[in-house]
Amino acid sequence: MARLELDNVTKVYDTQAETIVAVEELDLDIKDGEFIVVVGPSGCGKSTTLRMISGLETITDGEIRIAGERINEKAPKDRDIAMVFQSYALYPHKTVRGNMAYGLQLSTDLDDEEIDRRVENAAEMMGIEDLLEKKPGSLSGGQQQRVATGRAIVREPSVFLFDEPLSNLDAKLRKHMRTELARIHSEVGITTVYVTHDQEEAMTMADRIVILESGTLQQIGTPKEVYHEPTNQFVADFIGSPSMNFRDVTLERNDDGTGTLVGDGFEYELTERFLEGVSEDAPSDLVFGVRPESVAINADVPEEKQIKAEVDVVEVVGSDNFIYLDLADQEFRARTPTEIEPEEGEIVTMSFDEDDVHLFDARSGDAVVHGYADEDLTTAPSQ
Ligand code: ADP
Repeated sequence: MARLELDNVTKVYDTQAETIVAVEELDLDIKDGEFIVVVGPSGCGKSTTLRMISGLETITDGEIRIAGERINEKAPKDRDIAMVFQSYALYPHKTVRGNMAYGLQLSTDLDDEEIDRRVENAAEMMGIEDLLEKKPGSLSGGQQQRVATGRAIVREPSVFLFDEPLSNLDAKLRKHMRTELARIHSEVGITTVYVTHDQEEAMTMADRIVILESGTLQQIGTPKEVYHEPTNQFVADFIGSPSMNFRDVTLERNDDGTGTLVGDGFEYELTERFLEGVSEDAPSDLVFGVRPESVAINADVPEEKQIKAEVDVVEVVGSDNFIYLDLADQEFRARTPTEIEPEEGEIVTMSFDEDDVHLFDARSGDAVVHGYADEDLTTAPSQ
């Protein structure tokens, strides 16, 4: 187990055609035993970050340390890291036992008895004891995934790296394996960096989430922090499903300290308490954001809190309804309990609580204020 630090880490690819800055001045301080999920859209630098930590990719600039020791120049095999890939990369001609033992036979001087003990322990942890004498070809995708993870566990490394390990599994199995991997992590307590493009995976598994965009760090925080206090519009949009509603608005301040947000097709009153969080020099051109799950339909609220919109589509997803509305010719999304099922074409009223309102600087996209500010958001689910 070990602390993992990235200090100003940059990766530049110089190809004949162009120079690509894949990761730029990335700083991360990952605590001993922490489960970090790196998330972001395709091409944002997730895999490059992981490959630099593993040693499969050189570092253009900066320093990476494990347990305080610089590893930039160390070969991958000397970094005390185990990696699980999307393609499980199992040896087809070896048994499960052979696959799990092979790395230890090659890179350690452990005796056969100790190797066997570790393989059987890991197999038990992954629930694959019965498969030890089988070949990978006869296993399902989920079982192969377990073998690949088991093979990493037997190494008892300082750091685990996972590169989209669940993307080849079907949705149900993926959800199951998420829980399983989280359980394994809490059992072995090894510092873990897990890469995925799936924000839901990140939200359900991580102690802290690292959000990248175009090679730069946007935010690092607990799932609650990035959900309730996204640092900018990019993070607000990326985290949550369906994604946050945004509207260009201008803020008009009244003499009594209250204010009004004015946008296309709606006005929204803000209290003095809310506006205390908005500095006097904040720009008046803002982007207003509210999550679909914070939008109520036909709720019993005072008239001045109601915004009229037309229902375009109602999507029944089982646990909730996704309601797509037309507000001044732009889509507005609501995620409601199943009993709220308006007709398509019906005019409904929408409302939302001030505590659920986010404001962003229209130019920079940086957050100006989040309505929700009461709870301590720094605790991760597993802590
Ligand atoms: P992600 O894993 O988030 O999809 P990557 O880390 O794979 O993103 O890629 C980040 C950027 O670096 C992309 O623009 C990608 O095209 C570029 N890139 C990745 N690997 C190479 C390479 N070997 N040579 C040139 N460019 C690369």
